[in-house]
Amino acid sequence: MGKSIAIFNQKGGVGKTTTAINFSAALAESGKRVLLVDNDPQGNLTSGVGVDKSLLKASIYHVLIDEADIEDVIINTDFERLDILPGSVDLAGAEIELVDFDNREFLLKKQLERIKANYDYIIVDCPPSLGLLTINALVAVDTVLIPIQCEYYALEGVSHLINTFNLVKNRINPDIEIQGVLLSMFDGRTNLSIQVVEEVKKHFKKYVYGTIIPRNIRLAEAPSYGLPIIHYDRKSKGAEAYLDLAEEFLMLEEEDD
Ligand code: ADP
Ligand code: MG
Repeated sequence: MGKSIAIFNQKGGVGKTTTAINFSAALAESGKRVLLVDNDPQGNLTSGVGVDKSLLKASIYHVLIDEADIEDVIINTDFERLDILPGSVDLAGAEIELVDFDNREFLLKKQLERIKANYDYIIVDCPPSLGLLTINALVAVDTVLIPIQCEYYALEGVSHLINTFNLVKNRINPDIEIQGVLLSMFDGRTNLSIQVVEEVKKHFKKYVYGTIIPRNIRLAEAPSYGLPIIHYDRKSKGAEAYLDLAEEFLMLEEEDD
């Protein structure tokens, strides 16, 4: 049965989508069957794995509102074992539209249950907000992976994030856990980055991955070619880091079993 993981942080620009794409591609390469879920109206995850949104007849939006079957909307990407439930700008209205739905917090969960058995991992990219789409993700998943950018105010907003996580855990999804905290966009030349690493480790302790994602221009370039970093520039520091992350993650998963 697939384990589902939301890439969760309501701050924008912390590396959620970059992590969803590149961590998933590394997992797929190591033999895992992975489904990416583009749960952000921006749809950057979808284009980032080479899917042209303008050619899609249906997206996660139609799945959530029950106008399309999830099995029909999921697409095989060009990369082996990596599928995607594509996003679309239609999702932008969903935050408001879905408010009138019965079980509006459970829409994604209900759909993912239908296909969970087909995958080892389901990775859900979240929008930069704590609205209904993010709540749907937190209700649907087993764990959250929290990317934190090595920047000023790195821990700002973290208490909101944890409050939302606890709210969902206490009321709706008692089994949800923190999978891990990932430091991203690390710049070893700056004291700031080094300080942030210390601060985040103090706060999240054992949850922080040993692997740290460096700031690497190749990671920023790859999405415009629709390629995960390991297929764009395998020798880059960014590719190395996401391969390391997948390896560390899988090792911890084995220890847990
Ligand atoms: P989020 O999904 O949290 O909003 P993104 O993953 O879209 O964040 O990243 C924000 C921007 O920073 C994007 O332009 C992305 O290409 C770039 N970026 C993300 N991670 C890195 C990194 N490690 N090094 C350099 N650029 C990065
Ligand atoms: Mg994003």
